[in-house]
Amino acid sequence: MGDFFSVTLIFQAISSVLIGWLLLHFAKLYQRNYLFYWSISFFCLNLYLIAVYISLQLSTLQLDPSSWLRLGILFLVSLAGYLQIAFLMTGTISLVRGANITNKILFRVLVICILIAASITLFKNWTDSSADANLRYLVRIGLRYVIAGLACFGTAIYILRADANPLLGKKLVTIGFFVYGFEMAFLGWLTLENYIFGESAVLLILAPYHGLFELLIYPFIGVGLVVWLLEVERMRRQQSFEKLQNLNQTDGLTGLPGQRALHKHLQTWQQMAQPLNRLTLTLMGIDQMQRFNDAEGIKKGDEIITTLAKRLEFLCIGGYRFFGRLHGDVFVIISSGYGDEQLEKVQKLRRSFSRPLKIKNKTYHLEVSAGSTEITPNTSIDTLLHQASQALQLAKQTGGKQHQIYQPGIRLSLNTDLIFENELRAAFKRDQFEIYYQPIWSTTNTILCFEALIRWNHPKKGLLTPNAFLTLVQDLGLMIELDHWVARQAIKQIRAWQFINPGSAKITVNVSAETVQNGNLVAHIKNCLATEKVKPSNLTLEITENTAMHNIESGKNTLTELSKLGTHIAIDDFGTGYSSLNYLKAFPSDVIKFDRSFVADKKNQEINLEILKSLVPLCHRLDKKVVIEGIEDKGQLEAMQQLHIDAFQGYYLSYPVTVKEAQKLLLMSKKQQT
Ligand code: C2E
Ligand code: MG
Ligand code: MG
Repeated sequence: MGDFFSVTLIFQAISSVLIGWLLLHFAKLYQRNYLFYWSISFFCLNLYLIAVYISLQLSTLQLDPSSWLRLGILFLVSLAGYLQIAFLMTGTISLVRGANITNKILFRVLVICILIAASITLFKNWTDSSADANLRYLVRIGLRYVIAGLACFGTAIYILRADANPLLGKKLVTIGFFVYGFEMAFLGWLTLENYIFGESAVLLILAPYHGLFELLIYPFIGVGLVVWLLEVERMRRQQSFEKLQNLNQTDGLTGLPGQRALHKHLQTWQQMAQPLNRLTLTLMGIDQMQRFNDAEGIKKGDEIITTLAKRLEFLCIGGYRFFGRLHGDVFVIISSGYGDEQLEKVQKLRRSFSRPLKIKNKTYHLEVSAGSTEITPNTSIDTLLHQASQALQLAKQTGGKQHQIYQPGIRLSLNTDLIFENELRAAFKRDQFEIYYQPIWSTTNTILCFEALIRWNHPKKGLLTPNAFLTLVQDLGLMIELDHWVARQAIKQIRAWQFINPGSAKITVNVSAETVQNGNLVAHIKNCLATEKVKPSNLTLEITENTAMHNIESGKNTLTELSKLGTHIAIDDFGTGYSSLNYLKAFPSDVIKFDRSFVADKKNQEINLEILKSLVPLCHRLDKKVVIEGIEDKGQLEAMQQLHIDAFQGYYLSYPVTVKEAQKLLLMSKKQQT
């Protein structure tokens, strides 16, 4: 019988150590604390079994009860046995509460286990009567059975309570713990019976099979845990994916459906529509939003837009086919049908939308204009948006606070604000553009490179940011010219900065999709790099989101050629609108710049963090560096630093600054590096 015991003990020890190792592996892989505690529990069980094995071997030596060796082994048996229970419970509590157990608590648990083990070891150690021997057996073995049984029951109940409809893995683990708990408690009861009524025949029969039973139950629980984990991870991945899909369709700032969702909606409708079906597409925009942004700042402007988004949701829910945010301050609405009735409805919506807004005790009197066009199955989505946008511009130019309907003729008389247009054309000649530079910081707080951001020194309006004029630049067909100019200036700047701080003399330049597709970009960049004798690797080109890349093939060819040349390619505003996963798949890229909505969007903070947690390692696996934009405070920076992001950009670290100020930053960074 002794041999049988020893052999099962050895197999139990092997099995427990394997399960402990498996749990540890999963704990590291999935970063789950409860698995870590459970793995320690199984390692303690392993230690317990080894100590029992040694004590069995020692018992043949008839050692003196007070010998240190015997006492030490007895102490180890008890300590490991109770630590096993303690860590099993610790893991369970950590799982249920979803929280980490503090080191202070762990230390207390350890002290309590040591005290229990010491008391048990010394309990009636030097008395010889058979009653005392039975009591000793009860305390040393029976008590642990009972407590371990209760701990297993407790764990099973906790798991069930946390999830009333468990998946297969959880079911297996719960059953495993229940059965194991029952067996332990039963053995505990038999030990008590043995003590009270003298020798228990059932205990004598069952005790040898306890080891065999444990040999079966450990793998059962182990397999259950693995299945459970795989199920949880599969669900998490699916949830993340769904959220990401959702995020791709929603606008980061307001949470309303964005451009992508609009395209999808229109495409689906156009595929299914009958020739006589009609819809109305309306764009609504705030009159003089730029003036507001200039006066109150972009942050306030964002607040206005989010508040208006809520109002739009309230007004449109249930009554319209689609509503969302197109870009900036422009909202989009689709209503069924097209005729006087629908247009009257839009007019009413515009009036309700224009009512004064109250934000933090301040009232804003903003006026709203609207432009509508008819959606027909055969008109391209871009054309429809262009028509509605022209109608909106007409409404704004002719005094605002009104609704205009697109007529084919307005295209000729329109073409936006003529004065502004002439000023913009002149700006090129009069050298009114200026580049501001915003540093991008490494994890060690040194400057990795600068982003070149265009500004227009308007003679009357002062310094304008791209929001105020890039759309017009695009409409006037001047985008390629502007991008080429910025790229040349940036490359010249790299050359100049190389003498100040060669390590950080790198610039990343935004290029619009139009420039990438039709702009002879490769030849231009090659030429500028050669003239200035700048290494291509010091330049990064960011694909901006201003326009969608319609001609994927030509875009891809250009970017591949640039990449071959040695310049880096970054995907900008990743996680919004058109870019994201499509751009990641379609174009070569070295850097992924996550949009600032990942940091700023408080409403979806948890989802955003979850998405970043899964996407950052994915980018790294694809050998891409990850930059996060829009860090505005310390808390945001710290949160992002946890995610192994490679570089940071945002107002908290530095605003976009003039060349002179950028130069000072370069010098400072150099001092820090040396
Ligand atoms: P982007 O490329 O995503 O550039 C980042 C924008 O976020 C910049 O706005 C920058 O000033 C702003 N920003 C930086 N840190 C923060 C922050 O912590 N909080 C907030 N709220 N914003 C932050 P900017 O300069 O107004 O540029 C807007 C966009 O215009 C750029 O977005 C880019 O898409 C486009 N753009 C700028 N310069 C050029 C250019 O030379 N060519 C082209 N094609 N597009 C440009
Ligand atoms: Mg950019
Ligand atoms: Mg960006």
